Amino acid sequence: MSSATLCVLLESFSSYGRTACLSGLSTVAGLKWFSMNRSINTEGIVLKCSAFHETDRLLTLLLPDRKVAAIAHGANKSKSSLAAATQPLSRAQFLLYRGRQLYTVQQAAILSSAQRLAGKVGLFAIGEYLADLIDHLLEEGWEEPLEGEALFRLLAEALDALAEGKDPAMVARICEAQVLRWSGLMPLLTACVRCGTQEALEAFAPAEGGLLCHRCREQVPQALPVSREQLLHFSRLFLASASRLGRVHLNTATVAFLDTALTQLLQTQLKLALPSRTIAFQLLEKSR
Ligand SMILES: [Zn+2]
Repeated sequence: MSSATLCVLLESFSSYGRTACLSGLSTVAGLKWFSMNRSINTEGIVLKCSAFHETDRLLTLLLPDRKVAAIAHGANKSKSSLAAATQPLSRAQFLLYRGRQLYTVQQAAILSSAQRLAGKVGLFAIGEYLADLIDHLLEEGWEEPLEGEALFRLLAEALDALAEGKDPAMVARICEAQVLRWSGLMPLLTACVRCGTQEALEAFAPAEGGLLCHRCREQVPQALPVSREQLLHFSRLFLASASRLGRVHLNTATVAFLDTALTQLLQTQLKLALPSRTIAFQLLEKSR
């Protein structure tokens, strides 16, 4: 959508929204029903936020059952009651009004502030990367309801885990693995993806979505060698929960395997290669 189209859209929506809101206060039953039916009281996480029209904010919100675009009028003013709740990575209880193309934030009560991740180098960047990952996963025009609130809970738990001081790199890897699993792209980790044998599994081929045995591996030179221990850590990521993450000590080779396997899986299976991942992991590395 071009910015000019968006301006026209927002302006027409703005007057449309106000008229409908005022109508909602009317005692005419039909109009009241119309307004109530378009208001949603829901939890949400701010995936993205940009300034708009000087004092407004244009938001991308992840709700338990969908991703939506919303405008928060006046939220860019420092004294706005919407300012804190509409920052990136804030989780809040939102009262939203549904327009034809966009939602309007009518009220927002903060549940978890984005500030809890600020001030720690790399931590906020990992949170932003995970929000970016889910934002890209649910691409523009995604209208399907999200079943079971799984993605919302995944991100909410990951942000809580980061704030609680859990290993940010592991939180990110768990999220990446779970995003793949949610997308139905969990790799085959118990047998050779080519011939089906469960013997002599010794390499992982992200582009093929699974392990390779000793014989099949020769046909895929770019496959990543994997040890039994690395495979165990890798498999656990797909079933782990960021909120229950304990201390994990991984050697350098395992860290390298997990990161290469996950980035190549996201790249080949979901076509996602996000610069925000590189930046977040670099910042994290610098802070150590
Ligand atoms: Zn094989």
